[in-house]
Amino acid sequence: MLVVGSGGREHALVRALRGAGFAAASSAAQPADAARPRVICAPGNAGIAADGVPCFPVAADDVAGLVALAQREQVEFVVVGPEVPLALGLADALLAQGIPTYGPTKDGARLEASKIFTKELLFKHKIPTAAAAIFEDEAAALAYLKTHPAPIVIKADGLAAGKGVTVAQTDEEAAAAVREMFAGKFGESSRKILIEDCLEGEETSILVVVSGRDYVILPTSQDHKRIGEGDTGPNTGGMGTYSPAEVVTPEVYARIEREIVAPSVNAIADEGIAFCGTLFIGLMLTAQGPSVIEYNTRFGDPETQVVLPRLDCDLCELLWRAARGELAGYALRVKPDYALCVVIAAQGYPENHYRKGDEIKLPAALPEGVEIIHAGTAHDAAGRVVSAGGRVLGVTSMAASLAEAARRAYAACEQIELVGKYYRRDIGARQLAREK
Ligand code: ATP
Repeated sequence: MLVVGSGGREHALVRALRGAGFAAASSAAQPADAARPRVICAPGNAGIAADGVPCFPVAADDVAGLVALAQREQVEFVVVGPEVPLALGLADALLAQGIPTYGPTKDGARLEASKIFTKELLFKHKIPTAAAAIFEDEAAALAYLKTHPAPIVIKADGLAAGKGVTVAQTDEEAAAAVREMFAGKFGESSRKILIEDCLEGEETSILVVVSGRDYVILPTSQDHKRIGEGDTGPNTGGMGTYSPAEVVTPEVYARIEREIVAPSVNAIADEGIAFCGTLFIGLMLTAQGPSVIEYNTRFGDPETQVVLPRLDCDLCELLWRAARGELAGYALRVKPDYALCVVIAAQGYPENHYRKGDEIKLPAALPEGVEIIHAGTAHDAAGRVVSAGGRVLGVTSMAASLAEAARRAYAACEQIELVGKYYRRDIGARQLAREK
């Protein structure tokens, strides 16, 4: 089996697919080691390699190189982590060679790669989402802002590594975002833009394993997107997560499934897209009910780091059944424990210039129930593990309560040595306050 990608999400995927880490402690009957598939990764990171997984230096966006690697290594199944190779047609290329793949083809990947495509699908199928208008022209967009004052949301149509959205609090900020986008801030991705009504409420993410019209909803989770404590400062790729997100009460969950998940899966199938992969639904829980903020077409990062450890099942089997169209009737088992992940970022993140190449020293012994997931790490010439990305590590913990999971994760964060390390100290705080 080949896992494509190099982040924390892929490290968590690799561990779960191998039945290692938290998955090894699962009470579910895991196949014996000998029966587990061999897992390889491209390009991987220092933590994936340290787990004994062969990592091949083929970039995640090198479609031809990845197909060649899968053929050379006689890989029987590919799991694609990030969105870029999906948007480039990696799944199409693998399937054309007869290699089963978990991850949508290019037409399915458009649900993430084009916010306009998704907005039109949501409108057409009457799935709750914020009202929005589409613009290809700066003057028309600026004129629209005159009748739609802040707060208002400006979105680049295409992929922008999680940075293509401005939630403008003032009219000036909104106009500046429009001008920047049409000036080419995100290149081709901001040639067209969306201006969207600002939704109010709490956000949550739902990950759904989809195979055609069949689906399995994974445990709920909540991300912390802003760099600063108390949800302040610029957006990031995600600074931490916890699961379950108890803001999703059983009633809210039922509503999400009925009003959002089932209609979304059916709408995608009705559009003629044979979707196989993860549909990540970003939701705002508004006073009127759940509303779709976005679709992603892959596992979330860092949602995956807290969702997978809570699965009490064989992830290989689940994804394989999705790829084979055999998902109907699958009964997911979930552990009752709470999981929490704190992301440790490099000094300077999320700006483009952040520290890199600093040695990382991990504690010899971790607190009980803690796992360290590598994200932006690499080996330097001397063989030391060094920082190599904005988000460097994810510290995931599991415990019988969220408070205990947080205590364990933060105890481990303190022990990690990395010059200029930064992490938010309030992951899960909102839920903990609610519990009190
Ligand atoms: P990522 O890929 O990192 O999830 P993205 O660039 O695809 O992000 P979105 O998820 O659509 O963009 O938006 C990023 C963030 O902006 C959301 O998580 C949410 O906090 C905020 N946001 C987006 N749309 C709205 C809206 N209509 N109302 C209020 N906030 C919004």
